[in-house]
Amino acid sequence: MSVSKVVLRFCRCYSSGSRVRVRFAPSPTGLLHLGGLRTALYNFLFAHSKKGVFILRIEDTDQSRLVPGATQQLIDDLEWAGVHPDEGPTSGGDHGPYFQSERIHIYREEVEKLIKRNAAYYCFCTENRLELLRKDALRNRKVPKYDNHCRHLSSDEVKAKLASGLSKCVRFKLVPSEPYTDIVYGRINHDVHDIEGDPIILKTDGWPTYHLANVVDDHMMDISHVIRGVEWMPSTNKHLMIYKAFGYEPPMFGHIPLLLNSDGTKFSKRQGDLSIKALRQEGILPRALVNFVLQAGSGFDAQVNNTSSMEDLISSFQIDKISTNSCRLPFTKLPDFNRSELARRVSDPNYLKQLVTEVQTLVADKFGETNDADVVVPDETYVSTVLHWCLPRITKLSDLVSDNLKFLWVMPKASSLSDIDPGLLEALEMKLEKSSFDQKSLVSSMKSLASEQQISYKNLMHILRKVLSGLETGPGVAEMMMVFRKDLSLERIRRAKMLIAPTENPQKARE
Ligand SMILES: [Zn+2]
Repeated sequence: MSVSKVVLRFCRCYSSGSRVRVRFAPSPTGLLHLGGLRTALYNFLFAHSKKGVFILRIEDTDQSRLVPGATQQLIDDLEWAGVHPDEGPTSGGDHGPYFQSERIHIYREEVEKLIKRNAAYYCFCTENRLELLRKDALRNRKVPKYDNHCRHLSSDEVKAKLASGLSKCVRFKLVPSEPYTDIVYGRINHDVHDIEGDPIILKTDGWPTYHLANVVDDHMMDISHVIRGVEWMPSTNKHLMIYKAFGYEPPMFGHIPLLLNSDGTKFSKRQGDLSIKALRQEGILPRALVNFVLQAGSGFDAQVNNTSSMEDLISSFQIDKISTNSCRLPFTKLPDFNRSELARRVSDPNYLKQLVTEVQTLVADKFGETNDADVVVPDETYVSTVLHWCLPRITKLSDLVSDNLKFLWVMPKASSLSDIDPGLLEALEMKLEKSSFDQKSLVSSMKSLASEQQISYKNLMHILRKVLSGLETGPGVAEMMMVFRKDLSLERIRRAKMLIAPTENPQKARE
């Protein structure tokens, strides 16, 4: 189907004056993953780009698979990402309750309507009979399906079975399906009537299946557009049949393509390190993650950048620009997105203060236990200088306390200074006391010191690096001194002098 047709159909929908209402409806059976976040984002952006309403509904009808704490984690993760529901468990609203488990009475009443309309029926088949059907089909190399046996029970038979208290479920009567127009995929007809047996809509335990619950809730919550993963597309014709059986006007459907790993393999919920919770703990920032997830896909009329704000994303989102191509996530680029966002925050005075506090906490947590005299006091000015200087070297804040940047917070150990000539340190101290502390002056001072001491400049730099950082290799020495400023540079040189001076060593003094 052409884009113009999609747009046309869309305009028709809006001109009716009905407000856009969309929902994100996750099951609290585990952690929110990138795929779920992307679905939530598309719904959120679409709602906001049309001045509509974004609803969070918790689909917790599969009680056996519920994970304790998962709902709260899900709500926290969405809030963290900036995806605030207008209606939902914590936001409230006129269309609640927003937990399906609190809507059981509604599904049971609705199922009665379908039975009265002869669109659904009780099924009394035992698990044993269904198992025999499955085995029989497999033996005959057919796809197992329910044979619609109970569809044909007479009303007297049904009455008798109900009266005898037999275990029962309710099944929906499939009919030949009609094609529909998907916002993303165009014209779709998946005729389940030929392929599948009548599906269960109310289970023997009285709880609804997804097919029933999502149709009933979407209708009762006035959902105008269902935007969900393409894995639901084979069920949509079935859902449209249920709408029709109820006599309800269906919403429009848009299915979004699969999210794939960068190597093209299917994205799996089992990739635990790709949960939003894990990525948050890893130090990934919300704006970085949101842009990373969205940039790998489609749906925007202009290229968004690595640090686009939610407002930018809302204003450039165009649902008819979502393509049917599967979306590969280039995970190797995620650190770049995070670095860009970190840089944006460092350059924003409002964020910088908060970052400084976070770094101070990181330093205290990591090095607070070591000998106090060895740890630098990370005052605000120093941390701020470090943050600016380190930006090209880090992708997340915790990198600042990693082994290769530890020297910023912890003074060198005596063992790394043992082979240094104390006389040279004396001369170094005197030279630096007199030198201006800009990069050019420092280089010139060090060059003149090297010639006075009759050692090579390269050798002097090597010694100075060890004195300042304890490192054999690493960042430029003048650069390091700029970060340490005059006071901390001199402090480290004086401390090195003290650590290696023979008279300061009581053991040696006695000899
Ligand atoms: Zn049956």
